[in-house]
Amino acid sequence: MPGLPDGKPAGLPCPHLTPTLACALFGDPRRPQVCASLRPGPEMCGDSREYALRHLDELERLTGSR
Ligand code: SF4
Repeated sequence: MPGLPDGKPAGLPCPHLTPTLACALFGDPRRPQVCASLRPGPEMCGDSREYALRHLDELERLTGSR
């Protein structure tokens, strides 16, 4: 499945996330533009993976329909 033609369902990991938590499409023109343009900062990443995942979950909750 190249790119994310139908978007990514909220609450699920991206299908292009590798087992080592890297992007399988990094450097590939099929990588979604939103991924390439994202500039994460301290408010998004916090100081731990757990913080970042909670923040992402909150963004998905606020912008999704689940
Ligand atoms: S950067 Fe985009 S395409 Fe790559 S793993 Fe993350 S969400 Fe998926």
